[in-house]
Amino acid sequence: MDNRLLEMLVCPLCKGPLELLRHGAERELVCHADRLAFPIRDGIPVMLENEARAYDAAAEAEAQKAAEVAAAVASMKQAENTGSDAPPASSA
Ligand SMILES: [Zn+2]
Repeated sequence: MDNRLLEMLVCPLCKGPLELLRHGAERELVCHADRLAFPIRDGIPVMLENEARAYDAAAEAEAQKAAEVAAAVASMKQAENTGSDAPPASSA
């Protein structure tokens, strides 16, 4: 894939500039205005709206945080279940 060609590519929706993101071997072209990430398959950018995935940097950070919180809560629950053999407080 020629970088000059990538620079010529614009978002098919808003004709705005695209940012090339790399995830290891995978690459995609992100339109920040539309919050869409267009895949690059076999070196060929797929500039189709219905092939793009929703891309929201803030939402992705948020999802990451939520996953961490969920993992922390799950490990706390596990510690509760294994660390305490007290019966439920039902006696009045
Ligand atoms: Zn766009």
